[in-house]
Amino acid sequence: MKPSEIRVNGERLWESLMAIAEIGPLPGGGSCRLALTDEDRAARDLFATWCREASCEVRVDQGGNMFAVRRGRHEGPAVAAGSHLDTQPHGGRFDGIFGVLAALEVVRTLEDRGIETERPTAVVNWTNEEGVRFASGLIGSSAFAGDIGLEALHNDVSIDGKRFGDELARIGYLGDLPLGKFAMHAYFEPHIEQGPILEGAGQVIGIVTHVQGLRWFEVEVTGADRHAGSTPMAGRKDSLVAASRLVGALNELGLAHAPDARITVGRLEVEPNSPSTIPGRTRFNIDLRHPEMAMLDRLEQEIGRLCEKGKAGGFEIALHRKFALPPTVFDQGCVEDVARAVARLGYSYRRMSSGGLHDACSIAAQVPCAMLFIPSRDGISHNEAEWSEPEHVEAGANVLLHAMLARAG
Ligand SMILES: [Zn+2]
Repeated sequence: MKPSEIRVNGERLWESLMAIAEIGPLPGGGSCRLALTDEDRAARDLFATWCREASCEVRVDQGGNMFAVRRGRHEGPAVAAGSHLDTQPHGGRFDGIFGVLAALEVVRTLEDRGIETERPTAVVNWTNEEGVRFASGLIGSSAFAGDIGLEALHNDVSIDGKRFGDELARIGYLGDLPLGKFAMHAYFEPHIEQGPILEGAGQVIGIVTHVQGLRWFEVEVTGADRHAGSTPMAGRKDSLVAASRLVGALNELGLAHAPDARITVGRLEVEPNSPSTIPGRTRFNIDLRHPEMAMLDRLEQEIGRLCEKGKAGGFEIALHRKFALPPTVFDQGCVEDVARAVARLGYSYRRMSSGGLHDACSIAAQVPCAMLFIPSRDGISHNEAEWSEPEHVEAGANVLLHAMLARAG
């Protein structure tokens, strides 16, 4: 059989996905495996066993990131793929897990066929992608990339008051490989889309070219507290009314820049929050996302203009940018490896950006990266009802197989 004719074992991949889902099972069919809990340990143990059965050597770094390496004809940086095994509290069976197990299935397939690649291949499980028990998400991959130091990482405290370093040691995954020292030639991350676009278009594979940039703002609207009964409607300075107009205008702004812009107000605080007082102060956040830096700048200016306009009627409006993350543009060579694999396999596809953040974003500055998506039923994720069809899971793993083979030689 020619290498171009090789396919993964979809049934084995599906069985592995379903087996891991039984660790930390939830009544609605999902899983709960928060980072560095006993459930996380059990999933890691099972994953490590499978990797060793596939003749991989499992290495663990000081952040608990796991790298299962299959030897190549030559030593040197590995062609790696993976994602994360931890979940949300009401997590599904696919978010993260699909990426890790698809990469494992690639290695198992190479092993079955006795295929020797030039470069080593590796399956990666990043620690605490979800950022639930330990608050910052992508912490394992960020530490790998050097964005968080070893001490800060180990001293991070969980919501139940435990040190990251202590919990890592407790579950047996405090490795000795220094952070960032696992050498990768390229990194591919397969993931479920977690949105409705592929399913809506009836397409099987999303070739992810970039990840949206993100900016967070806080807005404070100040009017004046007054008695709700004795103050006539005319001339009031109701901060909530002014804020509501702004929220509406922000939504219009997002719609005007569809489909790529995303503008969301998800939190609102009203003072004094009393049923019989006109609210004098209202605070809210704005979550702005767009795949292009220039458009993020332009939309930020537009938001500033809307806030200026909102001052009419004597309101004070303060706008502060709290956080900014630039768009991630994936490596063109890796993206084309994925695109060629899709073309060879004949799956329907689209090129798209990712709305959510993934471990690949953390390491894209260090390692050539690309991602691929498979459809999520009804676009649902971070929910027990999360679902992807077995044939799409298999298709995604086949694309990964051929992209990795192209890189690994
Ligand atoms: Zn994920």
